[in-house]
Amino acid sequence: PASGETVLAVRGIHKAFGALLANRDISLDVQAGEILALIGPNGAGKSTLFDIVSGITPPTSGTVEFRGRSGLSLRALALGGMGRTFQHVRILPDMSVLDNVALGAHARGRGGLVRAALRLDRGEEARIVAEAQRQLDRVGLGHLAMRSAGSLSLGQQRLLEIARALASDPCLLLLDEPAAGLRHLEKQALADLLVQLRSEGMGILLVEHDMDFLMGIADRVLVIQFGVKLAEGDPSSIQRDPAVIEAYLGA
Ligand code: ADP
Ligand code: MG
Repeated sequence: PASGETVLAVRGIHKAFGALLANRDISLDVQAGEILALIGPNGAGKSTLFDIVSGITPPTSGTVEFRGRSGLSLRALALGGMGRTFQHVRILPDMSVLDNVALGAHARGRGGLVRAALRLDRGEEARIVAEAQRQLDRVGLGHLAMRSAGSLSLGQQRLLEIARALASDPCLLLLDEPAAGLRHLEKQALADLLVQLRSEGMGILLVEHDMDFLMGIADRVLVIQFGVKLAEGDPSSIQRDPAVIEAYLGA
């Protein structure tokens, strides 16, 4: 997608878990070449919204339009270029770091995992391994490629998930608390990487609590509380918004 083009259009999302309304009338847009941050207290409905956007959970009502098409399946979204990470990392701990990332590259490979498992195409396999290594280098984990994923620190496991998402060559990246558990230098490197990805035209939607981290990189911030959109604006106006301070930042 061209820079400034809307890659994600979320409209009027409601999500009920029994009597609990986890999302109420949430709408947002993410453009190519833009970083939109989602903040809000624990339980506000941020991860639920991510699960809806990425096709894991159906909304009770509302629509998710990705690159102009709505109602896409999880697989269609992934094939179309939506990559994501999870608040609670999902890695295969006994597998190597490299193989974990290679799984991401397979997500958009022509034959997928079955062909990879059968090793029907060595050229394709070599291409995927090279791509996985390239993404690991990008997130600063290149030197750990042969370690088991479970031996990494939590922060490194988060970076591994980002590398895996990048290996699928996404045009939209959803990151659920990517900086949680990262050391200061890792956070800085992550911020640099996200800014670089934005400059390449990627759209990025991320959940993050660290306002200092967001201030330097987010184009817009959307605040949700109790599943409802409370405010939306550029980071500095959000930091000064009395309703936001009352609900969240001042806590
Ligand atoms: P956040 O990511 O903002 O911390 P979540 O989206 O994880 O919030 O959760 C929002 C609310 O929805 C919470 O009250 C949570 O307990 C509830 N919730 C999330 N997932 C489920 C589920 N599968 N079943 C029932 N309730 C859920
Ligand atoms: Mg969450």
